[in-house]
Amino acid sequence: MTDKPRTFPLSLDSLAGKPARQGGGQSLAQSRIATPQTATQNAAQSAARGGAPHHGAVPIAPSRAQAIANERAQPATASPPRQNPLVSDAVRRAMVARIAKQGVKDPVVLDAMQAVPRHMFMDEALASQAYIDASLPIGHHQTISQPYIVARMIEVMRQGGSLQRVLEIGTGCGYQAAVLSLVAKEVYSIERIRPLHELAKANLRPLRVSNLRLQYGDGMLGLPQAAPFDGIILAAAGLEVPQALLEQLAPGGRLVAPVGAKLQHLQLITRVGKMEWTSQTLEDCHFVPLRPGTI
Ligand code: SAH
Repeated sequence: MTDKPRTFPLSLDSLAGKPARQGGGQSLAQSRIATPQTATQNAAQSAARGGAPHHGAVPIAPSRAQAIANERAQPATASPPRQNPLVSDAVRRAMVARIAKQGVKDPVVLDAMQAVPRHMFMDEALASQAYIDASLPIGHHQTISQPYIVARMIEVMRQGGSLQRVLEIGTGCGYQAAVLSLVAKEVYSIERIRPLHELAKANLRPLRVSNLRLQYGDGMLGLPQAAPFDGIILAAAGLEVPQALLEQLAPGGRLVAPVGAKLQHLQLITRVGKMEWTSQTLEDCHFVPLRPGTI
């Protein structure tokens, strides 16, 4: 199996070949502290976006990578936030360079972070802040995750290997799902707040991501009809990881989740046997809460 996703869009010349600043292997025990997300403050400023009107699956297209590349290549035809130099390609490169400096080494993940236009997942009023390393409000008291933590979680889940089928709990605006679509062959993402599920569909539509399925529902139950998954990422923090998700991991599969209430840490759980899982505690983090049911 190759290390690179099949249709990866960009040769990220500058970053992919960049030597990692921090030497040594990919120590999962390395105790980095993620910049705390600022969900609470940000929520206060939130200009809630209306739900997108359309239903149905994210459109199928020949190449999501091409759509993403087109978006990058044709700023003149884009909407105002895309023309803004504050959301330009160079700004995104700077964001990726910062993430690399913070310790994310996996070139596949860094390439994916470079390829996805984060500003397209945010309210236009906030688009100029799209590439700062912070979580930002997306409405409904939820946030788009901090870029560093998105990259870090995917790196931990990938561990340098290729991913076939991945599940994300907490689609939000769809940003991390778009990044995941570039590192895994098939991606499923569940959101419990219907207007956010609709928002993610609307955000993803212009990118024409063909290997991503968005699901409205309670992610604590997982997605048994698509299981098993060789990777699961939770974008919201529970006091523990729901048992259903552990059971939907494929043998050898890895789940990365924030765990805790006020004090949270990232947890990596690996399924090592039919009824056996191992767990590692990684860095501190701050996520919105994982909640049951749908609204
Ligand atoms: N993945 C997003 C982060 C969204 S914030 C990004 O790309 O930035 C976390 C999301 O998890 C919120 O939208 C919240 O509604 C959702 N969430 C919380 N509990 C959930 C559950 N049980 N099932 C599905 N989504 C859930």
